[in-house]
Amino acid sequence: MTVRVGVIGTGMIGQDHIRRLTKVLKGCEVVAVTDVDRARAKAAAATTPNARVFDDSETLIAADDVEAVLIASWGPAHEAAILPALSAGKPIFCEKPLATTQEACLRIIEAEVAVGRRLIQVGFMRRYDAAYRALKATVEGGSIGAPLMFHSVHRNATVPKDLYTSDMAVSDTMVHDIDVARWLLDDEVGRVRVMTPRRNSVGGALRDPIFAVMEMRGGALATVEVSVNIGYGYDIRGEISAEQGAATLAESNPVVVKHSGTFAGRVPADWRERFIAAYDAEIAEWIAAAAAGGVMGPSAWDGYAIAAVSDAALKAADTGEAVSVELGERPALYDA
Ligand code: NAP
Repeated sequence: MTVRVGVIGTGMIGQDHIRRLTKVLKGCEVVAVTDVDRARAKAAAATTPNARVFDDSETLIAADDVEAVLIASWGPAHEAAILPALSAGKPIFCEKPLATTQEACLRIIEAEVAVGRRLIQVGFMRRYDAAYRALKATVEGGSIGAPLMFHSVHRNATVPKDLYTSDMAVSDTMVHDIDVARWLLDDEVGRVRVMTPRRNSVGGALRDPIFAVMEMRGGALATVEVSVNIGYGYDIRGEISAEQGAATLAESNPVVVKHSGTFAGRVPADWRERFIAAYDAEIAEWIAAAAAGGVMGPSAWDGYAIAAVSDAALKAADTGEAVSVELGERPALYDA
């Protein structure tokens, strides 16, 4: 079976998903694209054999030959695309964030609950990375005992100077660490604190680095370093410290060379290089679930809970105080 996909938003990651759906994965084809920038949508359509260009997301979602909808527009436009796709009963892949406010996330959850089955997968791709999956399997396997702490390190070589703001260190970057902390520890965040050491002078006035401590509801702790101008590469680290052992994400380079008294390996240049296989697995699993009429993976509830932690962390960064994360009741639809 071939799942026919409509893509909303043909910017950087939208184009990459079109390439993936067209050239990398089997069992899918892109039949429709739209973007507020029509020329960009046309150019993206030209990279795949059978895609028509639509004027807007509503008509794309309503098209009979669009069986599943991939949303890769910018965050503030996500809700307006998700709600009609939910009403149409079409499986949805939505790039993170689910929506840009908690209220919008709750409206989406309400709409999905009204449909009565999960139709939304949110683009938190680390859960599809082989190293993170091995870490999760180790925790669940029980050999190291109950997890007590998760340490996450998220380092970018550099970020675009005029586009990247201090808040984005939390709302755009740390959200991935919030996602894996909740997923690995299988718990919600109760309180978050964000500390800011001396600034990295490379970033000028940017609040960089930051160090967050998340208190999970069950008592475990998760710490996150976000450094976005560290120069040497894109470095993602993670370690679980547990009652009877520890488990650490392996280095992502496949080979370490020892030579002339040194040892060395490649550090990925950026997130594309580090997570390309995870993006492939993420969309492959979405297509497989869509072929069966549903979705799996990070849910709308995850998108909402992460937005709530992100908002609390932004307050915490401004005040220096620990801020509580208030979550509504989780609907049964999102029970594991
Ligand atoms: P981008 O290059 O700016 O692309 C977004 C595209 O969507 C642009 O062409 C934009 O047009 C278009 N757009 C805006 N509103 C629209 C609407 N209502 N309908 C249709 N198209 C619309 O951004 P990007 O980097 O690809 O990011 C897109 C999304 O993916 C963001 O939510 C981002 O957070 C997420 N993302 C996730 C990851 C990840 O690791 N999972 C990585 C990168 C990006 P204009 O430029 O004309 O506004």
